Amino acid sequence: MEDLCHPMPMDTYNKNLLKNVHPENWQNPVPAGTYDLVVIGAGSAGLVAAIGGARLGAKTALVEKTFLGGDCLNYGCVPSKLLIRSSRLLREIRNSDRFGIRVSDFQVDFQDVMARLRQVRSKISEHDSAERIVKEGIHLFFGKGHFTSGNSLSVEDRVLKFKRAIITSGATTFIPPVEGIDICGYVTNESIFNIPEIPETLMILGGGPLGCELALAFSRLGSKVTIIQRGHQFLPKEDPDAASIVAEIFIEEGIDVMFNSQLKTIRVRDGFKEALIQTEGEGEKTCRVSEFLIATGRTPDLEDLDLEVAGVEYDKRNGIKVKDDLQTTNPRIYAAGDSCMKYKFTHTADASARIALQNALFAGKRKVSSLCIPWCTYVDPEIAHVGMYERDATERGLDFDSIKVSLTEIDRALLEGDERGFLKIIFGEKNGKILGATLVANHAGDMISEIGTAIKAGLTIGKLSEIIHPYPTQTEIFKRAGDIYNARRLTPWVTKLLKCWLWLRR
Ligand SMILES: Cc1cc2nc3c(=O)[nH]c(=O)nc-3n(C[C@H](O)[C@H](O)[C@H](O)COP(=O)(O)OP(=O)(O)OC[C@H]3O[C@@H](n4cnc5c(N)ncnc54)[C@H](O)[C@@H]3O)c2cc1C
Repeated sequence: MEDLCHPMPMDTYNKNLLKNVHPENWQNPVPAGTYDLVVIGAGSAGLVAAIGGARLGAKTALVEKTFLGGDCLNYGCVPSKLLIRSSRLLREIRNSDRFGIRVSDFQVDFQDVMARLRQVRSKISEHDSAERIVKEGIHLFFGKGHFTSGNSLSVEDRVLKFKRAIITSGATTFIPPVEGIDICGYVTNESIFNIPEIPETLMILGGGPLGCELALAFSRLGSKVTIIQRGHQFLPKEDPDAASIVAEIFIEEGIDVMFNSQLKTIRVRDGFKEALIQTEGEGEKTCRVSEFLIATGRTPDLEDLDLEVAGVEYDKRNGIKVKDDLQTTNPRIYAAGDSCMKYKFTHTADASARIALQNALFAGKRKVSSLCIPWCTYVDPEIAHVGMYERDATERGLDFDSIKVSLTEIDRALLEGDERGFLKIIFGEKNGKILGATLVANHAGDMISEIGTAIKAGLTIGKLSEIIHPYPTQTEIFKRAGDIYNARRLTPWVTKLLKCWLWLRR
């Protein structure tokens, strides 16, 4: 949160945030013998592990080097979704003519948008506060934790011995090695939510979820945004039909999109940042911008931990090496969250922390591979996914089929003017079992868990027809997919049989 160019504005909201997430003059407690559990990192995963451990009766210590709540609260999900809320409202206002409402005059007050961000974040920080952690009976230590042996670690001047430890140290922004980048300056997710003015022109490096979400938000709030993507589609891991909608929207909304492009150098010239960009097949181009946002991915934050001393193996890119039960190469030590997980989300941090805790303290047998993980990119419409993509099913050699339903077939989507989007479900060709789904819809993130539940329950796509969905809601899209599947099974032979049956009953 502290950045030399963009320090944290010290208003009442941020003062309250700091009071909760890193109280001034905090005195670390005196360690109490050997802990049943020491948790290193107090982000989403660490808080779940420590609070869960303490509630189950384990003598627990929690170590945090900066702010309780980690990325999600301080400079991740919470502030980004707050900006997205304001930007969605702007879309509604700008499109209001479509609904017969003329809005003759409105202004964007960026300072007020950011003040609301700080206010709500400060309110949410109460859930993750030092006061709450202490009330849970946890010993809370602020400072960098690093291992001093296979069963001890040091934080500031304290040594904590443990029977079990869980590493939940999260991830940090990967800064690409571009010539001039350090001299020129840039913002990352750790500083962008502190900026005092909206950048007139903003260049975003990276078209993954973070880059795409902030591109749309800043563009709607008033920046002229350019987004540079190395490959040929945004959200490269996403279903290509879904990802192409993102590019369409960006172009419609006036965002400059540069695919197959790379930033070669940056320099400061006449008060601007000047970027040299190389685009495959098009050569080099120079762009002047007021700010750069680096959104080129996140790498596990393991630097301070002295993992070698504890016999914990890792690799810099993929993080801590863990088995399916989240045990590391030191049997006393487990890991959870972004430090080891392929899918770096708050809900996977939470789910993996529960698994690590149970397995570490109670010799549980829970496995990460049993999780059915959904995710969502909060662009407009949202893009949510759960289970397998078609490419996963192909790689596994499965016989599968898919059904795609457009939102234009759903009454509620038409009523709301939200008809851009679709549902694609893939399922076993022979047994109809749901394998995965991608949903592009305004509230896709809220809706996708219905399919997660169906996958976990081993339901077939046909069963979705039997679930009653309130009319009119966009969730009817799931029932529609089930109806299409059932209709497909009505082969001429089955129809003939049914006709015979009806004739016999006459
Ligand atoms: C801009 C942005 C938007 C996002 N939006 C979403 C979203 O909408 N939905 C979603 O699910 N996910 C989102 N994410 C991802 C989500 O924030 C992370 O996956 C989640 O925070 C990971 O939790 P964690 O506990 O593993 O790590 P973190 O939250 O990063 O916590 C790790 C903690 O460990 C501390 N630490 C590290 N090393 C040490 C050490 N040596 N000693 C002591 N403490 C240490 C760090 O200071 C940090 O507080 C977003 C991320 C970003 C950057």
